[in-house]
Amino acid sequence: VFVFTAGIILIVGIAVVMFIFFRNLSVQYKLTNLYDNFIATVTHELKSPLSSLRLFLETMAYKNVSEEKRKDFLSLMMKDVKRLDNLINTILEISKLEQKKIVHDRREYKAGILFEELVNESILNLSVPEGVVSYECSSVSYCSADKKALQIVIDNLISNALKYSKEAPTINVSVKDNRKKIIIDISDNGIGIPQQYQKKIFNKFFRIDSVNMPNVKGTGLGLYWTKEIIKQHKGSISVHSNGLNKGSTFRIELPALKNKG
Ligand code: ADP
Repeated sequence: VFVFTAGIILIVGIAVVMFIFFRNLSVQYKLTNLYDNFIATVTHELKSPLSSLRLFLETMAYKNVSEEKRKDFLSLMMKDVKRLDNLINTILEISKLEQKKIVHDRREYKAGILFEELVNESILNLSVPEGVVSYECSSVSYCSADKKALQIVIDNLISNALKYSKEAPTINVSVKDNRKKIIIDISDNGIGIPQQYQKKIFNKFFRIDSVNMPNVKGTGLGLYWTKEIIKQHKGSISVHSNGLNKGSTFRIELPALKNKG
């Protein structure tokens, strides 16, 4: 009996140690992955605009540059500065959100009207040509929302739909509800998202290594930021795509306010 009990204790002990070991390994694996994605983003998104700025400055400082060239250089430098500014702002805003240092200014809105305004604002913000984005709504419900924060969400989703499309993009935003939830679908006809990445794209710094679209710039932070904002609205976001070149639909679900609408 003693040997049997000792054996059981030994086996349980080994199982516990193995469980802890593999759990740590998987946490470590996740961290390493995050670290690799972070390094890739920093290298690309911080280093490359900085190197290009340095190159322009050196050329202008030490070489004879015509007035026309100087103007071209300055406008390219402006783009690099904007890229750096955007990245730093995004990182700062996300870390404020993570530390719950942002107080959301929540108000009640009729969802259909709110999202129509947000989409129209995005069209202006992103200079989207006429006819690319269509909007439909059958919702009568109300939601509690921070308009500024949701503008970031819609800007991110529409900007991605434009970025990750090969042919003439068409984007449809639809808002409906089932009384309990308001459902916002943002569909595009872009390059699509393979099944294995559909959850991962919401992770911090995650980008799909796409041979399909090698020159599209990004940080892998937009969808993480989007997801965090939606989480703070007690909602959820998911994506559905039938795969490569078959378009994508991002679905946001927000709680509908009771006894309203
Ligand atoms: P970024 O666009 O800066 O890379 P995001 O967090 O916005 O970062 O998106 C993460 C990744 O998800 C993108 O790199 C891209 O591979 C993929 N993705 C996002 N939106 C779309 C879309 N509408 N169609 C296809 N792929 C997309």
